[in-house]
Amino acid sequence: MELAIPRGVRALMNRLERHGYEAYVVGGCVRDSILGRMPHDWDVTTSALPHQAMAALEGHRMFETGLQHGTITVLTDDGPVEVTTYRVDGAYSDNRRPDKVRFTPSLREDLARRDFTINALAYHPGSGLVDCFGGEEDLRRRLIRCVGDPDRRFHEDALRILRGLRFASALGFSLERHTADSLTRNRALLGRIASERIRDELVGLLCGAGVLPILLDYVPVITQVIPELTPTVGFDQNNPYHIYTVYEHTAHAVAAVAPRPELRLTMLLHDAGKPATCTEDADGRRHFYGHPKVSAAVAREVLHRLRFDNATIARVVKLVEIHDCNLEPTERCVLRQLNRLGEEVFRELLLVKLADNAAQSEYAQGWTRTVREIEPILERVLTEQRCFSLKDLAVDGTDLLRAGIPAGPAVGQELQRLLDLVLDGACENDRDALLAQIPQWKEY
Ligand code: ATP
Ligand code: MG
Repeated sequence: MELAIPRGVRALMNRLERHGYEAYVVGGCVRDSILGRMPHDWDVTTSALPHQAMAALEGHRMFETGLQHGTITVLTDDGPVEVTTYRVDGAYSDNRRPDKVRFTPSLREDLARRDFTINALAYHPGSGLVDCFGGEEDLRRRLIRCVGDPDRRFHEDALRILRGLRFASALGFSLERHTADSLTRNRALLGRIASERIRDELVGLLCGAGVLPILLDYVPVITQVIPELTPTVGFDQNNPYHIYTVYEHTAHAVAAVAPRPELRLTMLLHDAGKPATCTEDADGRRHFYGHPKVSAAVAREVLHRLRFDNATIARVVKLVEIHDCNLEPTERCVLRQLNRLGEEVFRELLLVKLADNAAQSEYAQGWTRTVREIEPILERVLTEQRCFSLKDLAVDGTDLLRAGIPAGPAVGQELQRLLDLVLDGACENDRDALLAQIPQWKEY
């Protein structure tokens, strides 16, 4: 097997070797290359100590990114490359990060500290693959397996629990049984991990192509991170529109939406408020009036706790809040929604509705048809550059003042009234036509 190492990375490895050190590409780039996926960055592992590597690579631009962990970042023609000295992680006293690291001359020891067998592969163009823990076989069998004893590895760094699920989701792999049992058993250790690190792995997990079985098979880990979803687990909907419990519906809805963080997070949280708002009618049919509002409040709390940025929080909360709103396949409705939400959010709302619908019963497929009818209307009003906001209106405040509307709040109210006429199709967006709608205009 030959890996296509970019020229700049290759040159850097050669330089280290000419100075008498070993150098291999390692980790994600080797894994992805073997899988036929494009690696997004290349990491090099070397026997050179950090200061030796820096001396050998003199002439390159370099940053001391994590010198205490043995990492320098070297700029090459193929982008930044992380060069890390072979190391063994020292004791872990906090289930998070090693108290200190020890450099080692042994590549095998460096590979042994890595989390999963498929991430513990190194490669050299001359000598080929270095696979001490059966990583190549696990790639073939599509398995995530810890290097060494899973319990020990998850105790050292509990983030690996979520990394394991994230890699499985992203690659569409399964977890080897001992690794799976261990990460479920040790899930409470995640309580000691910084929210930012959990957030990043959670987003990766949600955006993976293989997210569905992960959400369904690792419920205790998911609810460890988001306890707010616990009431949805096993919660029956007793409603002809639904074939799944709230949690199962949620999982299917996540998998059905495009893999963008804000959309996947929206689907994950969109029905979190259902158990709390559930009522039952005389036939035993369940209803969830007002659940979007409650779900939106839950979403805000969860995303805030996981330290998401404000833009993501605002977007997800908004989409959760409106996910159940009523839409009609009419120009009027489309213009109104564009006015209310803007093009970007409206488009996302349609995707959310399609995903929500895809995760419901056959009986509920009406929504899919409605959205499919809305789409061409949306494209048309956008191509025709139809007016859907005040800034596109053919008159402005100055026109209204000239037309005799007294300065003050009346101007804004009148503009809004004229815009409403345009949105409803009751008046053309034409200056004269709009001015003719102003009662005062005729008087003055
Ligand atoms: P990707 O970058 O595609 O998410 P990756 O495998 O490159 O995947 P990184 O987080 O960039 O993942 O880490 C690079 C390598 O460092 C991994 O392949 C793994 O060998 C090792 N590694 C990273 N994080 C850990 C960890 N928490 N515990 C043990 N080894 C780790
Ligand atoms: Mg990486």
